[in-house]
Amino acid sequence: MNNKSIIEIIAKAKDGQLLDKGEIIKLLNIKKVEELALLFKSAQEVRTNHFGKKIFAYGFVYFSTYCRNDCAFCYYRKSNMIERYRKNPNEVIAIAQSLADSGVNLIDLTMGEDIAYHNEDFKTVLSIASQIKEKTDLPIMISPGVISNKIIDKLSDVGIEWFALYQETHNRELFAKLRLHQSYDERMQAKLYAKEKGMLIEEGLLAGVGESVEDIADSILEMGRIGAMQVRVMSFVPQEGSPMKDIDTPDRLKELKIIAVMRLCYPNALIPASLDIDGIAGLEDRINAGANLITSIIPPKSGLMGVAQNRMDVDEGGRTIKEAAHILEKLGLEIATAKEYKEAYLE
Ligand code: SF4
Repeated sequence: MNNKSIIEIIAKAKDGQLLDKGEIIKLLNIKKVEELALLFKSAQEVRTNHFGKKIFAYGFVYFSTYCRNDCAFCYYRKSNMIERYRKNPNEVIAIAQSLADSGVNLIDLTMGEDIAYHNEDFKTVLSIASQIKEKTDLPIMISPGVISNKIIDKLSDVGIEWFALYQETHNRELFAKLRLHQSYDERMQAKLYAKEKGMLIEEGLLAGVGESVEDIADSILEMGRIGAMQVRVMSFVPQEGSPMKDIDTPDRLKELKIIAVMRLCYPNALIPASLDIDGIAGLEDRINAGANLITSIIPPKSGLMGVAQNRMDVDEGGRTIKEAAHILEKLGLEIATAKEYKEAYLE
């Protein structure tokens, strides 16, 4: 049992000391309105101390929705009989260029575990990434799923800066129920190998999938232990055709509290406010919880999909830099330039 008050725990975090599991749980369990207000205000203060008014933004290119896996929570799981696409390299490069022109700080190349790319040792993906780097001069994050060390070597060799791979939970039993027939250790090892190769890594957790508050605290601590510089939480959204389609999406307060606690634990981290859950309407609350990165910016009419809410606000142009900047302006914040992003994370 932790006897410290909420005020003392927050003061400890603001003093730069890492919180322990009991303290994190206590923050995650906050229910009183005034304590919640203090949590979010403190997370914003920590962000402001480190980043001033600047918020970063990533362009999202989900270039293949084919996948060999069957994750229980995912719309794109292989057993789901859905329409899929694999964008050709020229289309991917053109989309990345339009995102770069709109002012994003990084291109996030995301794919399912598409066997077509595995069969050719990622030749096409490597070529796409190299061309995007050359044409846009922006850093790249790749979310390729679990891949061999040999392919990670190649990704690192072409200069890809970020490697994103989410456990979604660090409770092994729950992992087995979510990522069916997949290895927890293989997934973690791929991430750690990418880090060893000098890539920055992103770790993520999914909220509302049967985890306990202890599990969330374990995930937050594990993210720090493995040295993830980008740490993400997303609320589960039920997907048609998946085994978890009848499970309710959680109250968003859960995700917001996790964002705030992550900010207090990891002041320098990139913490996404993903447009993929509640669209542009969900941006303000996530920023007010301490997020400093807008993810899932997607060009309208590009034929691309999101992940959790695969069409929400996409064709209407809601997931654009312009829309996001407008909301940030009201909060006294602004989108960082690509140069500012590079100075903060890559130099
Ligand atoms: S979460 Fe990723 S790996 Fe799992 S089924 Fe969906 S696309 Fe495939």
